[in-house]
Amino acid sequence: MSSPKRRPLIAGNWKMNLSLAQSVELAKAIKDGTKNSPADVAVCVPFTAIPVVAEVLKGSQVRLGGQDLYWEAQGAYTGEISAGQLVDAGASTVIIGHSERRRLFNETDEAVQKKLKSALAAKLVPIVCVGETLDERQTQKTWRVLETQMVGALRGFKPEELGPVIIAYEPVWAIGTGQTATPTQAQEAHNFLRKQAGKIVGEAFSSSVRILYGGSVTAENVDTLMAQPDVDGALVGGASLKAPSFVRIANFQVPVRGA
Ligand code: PEP
Repeated sequence: MSSPKRRPLIAGNWKMNLSLAQSVELAKAIKDGTKNSPADVAVCVPFTAIPVVAEVLKGSQVRLGGQDLYWEAQGAYTGEISAGQLVDAGASTVIIGHSERRRLFNETDEAVQKKLKSALAAKLVPIVCVGETLDERQTQKTWRVLETQMVGALRGFKPEELGPVIIAYEPVWAIGTGQTATPTQAQEAHNFLRKQAGKIVGEAFSSSVRILYGGSVTAENVDTLMAQPDVDGALVGGASLKAPSFVRIANFQVPVRGA
């Protein structure tokens, strides 16, 4: 179980799914089903759904986020959305550097850092994703890749600037594949990332930063993942699109030690 200093967070990533009507319906069910969750709960929805979902979630415990942003404030950047526009639409959090953005849209560590800077300036809570591919894991490059992505995102900030940052460990081989990291693999990577956070930013950040696990989290495996000491929550893709599974994940149960 994660340190009591770090309140768990369960965040859904709806990706490019759902109509507005479906988004409203799902948001209502999540709002109702997570009132007594032991965690903070968030949904990161398509840009077009942010205003309608914001209306549903108004006054509730569920936070609302975008899935990406562009670092400039405004201008001739066709197709992009700024941090200020996300806030204006009703978002309070944002995913940055998701592996699908890195892989399909050539997002670099440099872009991730610029996005992080702009999210923090707009007071959005950034969820920064890192993770290795299957090839990188099989060729023993996992730690090097995670270190490079962490340094790429976090270097150059003052520790006090990074207070709101959340890290998501998302091994690329586990995303959307049904092949979840074992609790031991997740704990090992989270512990490594926490140590990196200490080296790059400092001890206070290392012990307070929430590190989420993402990659085929389901209602069936969430409890054992959440039982790991450095797993502070989950970023959930596929299983966040159906209310029963996401609500069960958000209401995870960690076995009581010694019971
Ligand atoms: C994700 O895309 O962030 C993710 C973890 O997806 P899934 O849960 O479907 O593996």
